[in-house]
Order: sequence, then structure tokens, then C-alpha cells
Amino acid sequence: MAPGEAKYYPTQLETFVECPFKYRCSKDPEIKRKHRKPTAQQYLGTCIHDALEVFFDIRRTAVSARTAEKLADLFRRAWAGVDLPPWKKRDRVDERQKVFGGDRELEGSWGRQGLHLLDRFFRTADRTVIPYTAEQFHEAKLSSGAILAGKVDRIDKLPDGTLEVVDYKTGKPPPRQDDDSVAEEDLQLSAYAIVVGRKYGLSVSRCSLIFLSEDRKIGFTPTADLLATKEARIEEIVRSIEAEKDFAPRKNNLCPWCEYREICPVGKDIPPADRVAERPDVPF
Ligand code: SF4
Repeated sequence: MAPGEAKYYPTQLETFVECPFKYRCSKDPEIKRKHRKPTAQQYLGTCIHDALEVFFDIRRTAVSARTAEKLADLFRRAWAGVDLPPWKKRDRVDERQKVFGGDRELEGSWGRQGLHLLDRFFRTADRTVIPYTAEQFHEAKLSSGAILAGKVDRIDKLPDGTLEVVDYKTGKPPPRQDDDSVAEEDLQLSAYAIVVGRKYGLSVSRCSLIFLSEDRKIGFTPTADLLATKEARIEEIVRSIEAEKDFAPRKNNLCPWCEYREICPVGKDIPPADRVAERPDVPF
């Protein structure tokens, strides 16, 4: 592929900034297949996204059928992969086995956590919304010719004809005082606003993060100046990737959680996260 024509996802750009070696590993299907260690949190997130996709898809769930029981049922079905096409179902079953290793008690506690998150969401969210799109891939060309792409959780069309880009988060929310800056600094959300605005030729007037664990929605208005700054930053990262030769490891705070630690010249000597997180059980 000629320089400038490659496709880039915002999370990959963030990975490159974090560590070029990790980026290269994540782009190699063989290395990825061998070393990728899906976590329970990721499995939970995937199933929640799948359930919400069907729940908000008017062709598959009528607005009148959007009940708490329906959402819980969709989540259970996503967990077992029963509605997935055969090749995807196989991956879901493999992943479930990798993550929980047949430990039904551990799996049950994560599953109940997912049901709890969705129940909180159900009680506070607008359940009548008919999204413009939900859980769909979108892409658009940057001025350099590179393609910026991403799977956007939800796009809503607002009464004034503008769009709102919505991203669900299943992890821990940030401290409340950081709300505005967290949303605005999220490269992924701004990247989606650029892609969606360009693809549909419509203005994106709102970017929102919904933290399911706290029924909390934070967001920002993506002004033209802000998006221009973000796009310049994205183009800068793309240029760095395309010019990169060595993809050297870059030690950082996330190394203990890195999936490629064992094959990384730097990461081999870094203790894994479970040992870093270990605290002595003493009364002082
Ligand atoms: S362990 Fe750290 S330095 Fe090594 S690849 Fe992972 S993030 Fe990069």
C-alpha cells in the first residue's frame, strides 16, 4: 500500500504513541494471535456493545419491546454468542474459554456485573431514541490521503439536524472534576467526529461518553478549531508511523499490562500487572 493510503484506527494511533514496538506487534496477525490475552473486562465490554446494538436497532427490536428483560436477554445471548454467524461464534466461544478457563464462579461474577451495568443504563437512558447508526464502521479520507476509520457505538441525529457521536464506556469513570477535559482529550471521540462529519456532510455538534457504571454522560462541543487541531495531530502521528523504521520499544506506565511483554526486549524484565498490583496484607 502506498504511503498515505493506509487505514488507521484511533486506538492504533494511540498505541503507536504509547509504544511503537507494541504497535508493530498489534499489526502482525500471527504475533497478535499468539500473544493476545483478552481480559474479562474486554469480554464484558464486547457483550454489552453487542446487546446495545440489537436493543437500539429498530429492525431487530421495536421501541415498544425495549424492556429491561429484553436487554438482559440480549446480553446473555451475546455472552454465549448464540446469535452470531458460525465463524464469529467460534471466536466468541474460544475467547470465553481463554478468559474464564471454565471457572463458572468467576464468569458468573463478571456476567452479573454486566447485567448490573445494563440495568442502571436502562433505568436512566432515553430508550425511545432511534439512532442514525449503531455499532457501525465508518471511514473518511484525511487531507494526506490516509483513511481514518472506526466503529462508532452510536450516532444520534438531533432535532436541529446535527449529529451527536456517542461512545459507551464500561470501565471506571474519571474523577468528576476532570469531566470536560477527559472527553475533550479523548482522541478517539474527536477522530469519530471528524470521520462522521466528513462521511455524512453533516455537522457534529456533540461528542459524548456514557459511563455505564455510573449513568454518567460527559461530553464536549467539537468546534471547527478543536477538530482542526485534532486532525493535525492525527496526521502528525500518521506521518510518524509511515516514516518509522525501527519500531523500538518505549517503556511506559502501561508496560505491566502489555500483551507483548514476553517478546519485548524491554518488557521481559518488567513484572506483570498482577504482581505490580499485589499489596502486602499488613495492618499499617
Ligand atoms: S512491554 Fe512496554 S515497551 Fe514493551 S512492547 Fe509493551 S508497552 Fe512497549
